[in-house]
Amino acid sequence: MALQLNQNELYRLPWTLPDNAISWLEPTSACNLYCDGCYRKNQPNSHKTLEEVRHELDVFNRLRKTDGVSIAGGDPLTHPQIEKIVEMIAKDGHKPVVNTNGLLLTMEKLRALKNAGVAGFTFHIDSKQQRPHMKGKTEIELNELRLMYASMLAEVGDISCAFNATVYDDTLRYVPEIVRWGQEHIDIVHVLVFIAYRAAPLYKGYEYFVGGQKIDMTPIAYAIDTERKISIMSTDMVEEIRKQYPDFQPCAYLNGTERPDHFKWLLTMRIGTKEKIYGYTGPKFMELGQTLHHVQHGTYLAYTEPKVLGRAKSMLLLSPLDRGLSRTANSYLHDAFRSPGLLFKKLHMQSVLLIQPVDFMTNGALSMCDGCPDITVLNDKLVWSCRMEELMTFSDWIRAVPVRDGGQPAESITSVH
Ligand code: SF4
Repeated sequence: MALQLNQNELYRLPWTLPDNAISWLEPTSACNLYCDGCYRKNQPNSHKTLEEVRHELDVFNRLRKTDGVSIAGGDPLTHPQIEKIVEMIAKDGHKPVVNTNGLLLTMEKLRALKNAGVAGFTFHIDSKQQRPHMKGKTEIELNELRLMYASMLAEVGDISCAFNATVYDDTLRYVPEIVRWGQEHIDIVHVLVFIAYRAAPLYKGYEYFVGGQKIDMTPIAYAIDTERKISIMSTDMVEEIRKQYPDFQPCAYLNGTERPDHFKWLLTMRIGTKEKIYGYTGPKFMELGQTLHHVQHGTYLAYTEPKVLGRAKSMLLLSPLDRGLSRTANSYLHDAFRSPGLLFKKLHMQSVLLIQPVDFMTNGALSMCDGCPDITVLNDKLVWSCRMEELMTFSDWIRAVPVRDGGQPAESITSVH
């Protein structure tokens, strides 16, 4: 039986449409790489002007409280004025975080972005990208590339370093190894994100409509006509990680719009050194962090500064308030008692985030992340970035209708267990 988590034992992140930790800006749809599973059509001449970017930021400022702004695309480093964009976001009082494949990142570019106010990078690296000189490399072999980018950021200092990887049926087994690699570099890698592969199947199961009109989904970037697994769940990833880390324990989540017991964003915070993970924070710690940040700054917390993550030892003082922290403190003190040198070592905090994007339900409903953090702006409205192609192609959201006669029944490809 598939792993079950009890949502009542986790903290439901308080993020909503008008008040969220993160927002998603796409200054371009141009990209210099092909990634399997990308939601956006690659459009070479699609850089937005600074005026257009300013306008979208103003829409965010009017409609949505936010702590961080993910600058995505396309690859935002292809935009000739990326430093200016970072500067605009920082001047608005938000944390600019560049989501990139990293290909165009040089030390010079990195320093320029740091001067412009960049708060973090999320590098998308996985084995199903068509990276030059990296074809055929496994997820494990790509750790070398991940380390190169983490080291570049560490050299400049004070920049949050995150990696994300899309997870497919045949790469799920590598997730624990990447999590282990993350532990080895817990001092310079702050966040690991694993995103289950999703696509809209054309080959069986559903037909698609806009209004009452049946439509041809073929032009949509995330439509696929060959059979692939599109139902990996965040709990499947937990199960896999527990093969390497049996006590791996998430603390917070966002549910699905169709299912309160689905974990669309499932967050785990672990504390340790390069040699050992001492434990995992519990839900109360997350609740405290989100609430205090909102009281103090008016927004929910998105990215914690690296220097704060490096002070995890002082966070153990909150043990009386959080069972996860208390277990972590006990395990740490147990080891420190046997080897007192440990008391002089830094303890680091690192997040592991598991994302289960759009799910096709058996009745054709599409279950989204409730409180979606990756909301972007299109035509002055806030929209899901993962489905924006539908609006750009058909001027409306598509509806999926299960095919009951002929073809395979929809149940066989959905994620509903
Ligand atoms: S709803 Fe879509 S855009 Fe929003 S967080 Fe989930 S996968 Fe990302």
